[in-house]
Amino acid sequence: ALIITDECINCDVCEPECPNEAIYQGDSIYEIDPNRCTECVGHFDEPQCQLVCPVDCIPLDPAFMETEDQLMEKYEKLIAVG
Ligand code: SF4
Ligand code: SF4
Repeated sequence: ALIITDECINCDVCEPECPNEAIYQGDSIYEIDPNRCTECVGHFDEPQCQLVCPVDCIPLDPAFMETEDQLMEKYEKLIAVG
């Protein structure tokens, strides 16, 4: 999963780009639900939020490092439950 750092300027451009509805407005900045972020695996070749973020504040989350297979499995579970 990816994580939004405190450099986030709350510009709101990433939230609508997420195919998994993993991004939401948190208490002070936007946040990513690691249980819904597939790093865009299953939908796109690249993380869409990273592509649009103007301040480049969405790195990989070191607490949620996943393999391509694990990300694909998460994607399949997400589409199964809707
Ligand atoms: Fe959503 Fe993709 Fe960004 Fe993860 S990497 S938060 S799935 S847009
Ligand atoms: Fe924050 Fe970047 Fe998302 Fe804008 S695009 S809300 S700066 S994480």
